[in-house]
Amino acid sequence: MKKILQDLNFVEIEQLVLSLNEAKFRAKQLYTGLMLGKRISEINLSPSLREKLLAEYENEPVKIIKTLASSDGTEKYLFSLADGNVIEGVFMKYKYGNTQCVSTQVGCRMGCMFCASTLGGLVRNLTSGEILCQVLAVNALHGGTAAKRAVTNLVLMGSGEPLDNYAETVKFLRNVTAEGGINISARNISLSTCGIVPKIYDLADEGIPVNLTISLHQTTDEGRARTMPTAHKFKIAEILKACAYYFEKTGRRYIFEYSLIAGENCDKKHAEELVHLLKGLPCHINLIRLNEVKERKLKTVTEKEAYSFLGMLEKGGLSATLRRQIGVDIGGACGQLRAGYLNG
Ligand code: SAH
Repeated sequence: MKKILQDLNFVEIEQLVLSLNEAKFRAKQLYTGLMLGKRISEINLSPSLREKLLAEYENEPVKIIKTLASSDGTEKYLFSLADGNVIEGVFMKYKYGNTQCVSTQVGCRMGCMFCASTLGGLVRNLTSGEILCQVLAVNALHGGTAAKRAVTNLVLMGSGEPLDNYAETVKFLRNVTAEGGINISARNISLSTCGIVPKIYDLADEGIPVNLTISLHQTTDEGRARTMPTAHKFKIAEILKACAYYFEKTGRRYIFEYSLIAGENCDKKHAEELVHLLKGLPCHINLIRLNEVKERKLKTVTEKEAYSFLGMLEKGGLSATLRRQIGVDIGGACGQLRAGYLNG
């Protein structure tokens, strides 16, 4: 595989252009073109620079090879990478802006029982440029520019565990929030993790105040370990301590994801335990009905049951919402599109 130009920030692009004996102003042209989601071959450059770049760098590191459009405006994409691997992403329209869900790894090694991304294990980490290219490609697809973005919000909730690919994820966060680039505000970015505690502390110290989202899904360590293998290593109490540190450092309220699984985590007892665990903390709870994955036995709950659980949390004084299920007609759950593609 050739190198990926979108791994570089503006200063590094400038150094590269100078090292190739090209005029410094070419760096701006190149960077502007890349941020518009253009291929190297499409950017207005001197022929000599274009040729030198193409010899060493991927012309289009991330390509949209399939788009599924839902009747509610949601779009799902399959992207191919230069080495032939595929990843997926989602684009969702909300009143406050357009949110893109991006992947940070090909596959995942966290092994959560309900998640399709983990079915084939981890294939490889994405580079920061490959994560960025997903955003640039979708922004361009919707006619966005750096000045007027079509993608305004990001969630790192595609395939992969962002904190298991820490260095590239952080580099991506720096580059996607950089002034002069696509410049998406850190406040409009949510990073979701299954709870890799030491990395939550590291992230808090990076000075990039993204929204921290924790996949909780259970009220006890034993219950959590049944569906999430990482729970054997990182206990809920340690996760809550790390969240408190994150809040102290960034001032950002944190969010818990709680996917409702029939017979597993949404009885009255669980609501009470959740209230006990989280009451008074600067957090919000996002409930979502499990998206059933055909390879797994776990079942979702009815809408009525989901609202009843929400009601119990609210009555207990928690701030919670039930996420509207969107794009259900095109396969909502993480990793389903890729799994379908790989299985033919
Ligand atoms: N590795 C990160 C990002 C995962 S995807 C993490 O664990 O947070 C984003 C969210 O979707 C996570 O909360 C994940 O647990 C949840 N999720 C995965 N598969 C799901 C499914 N089939 N139904 C509902 N939620 C699911």
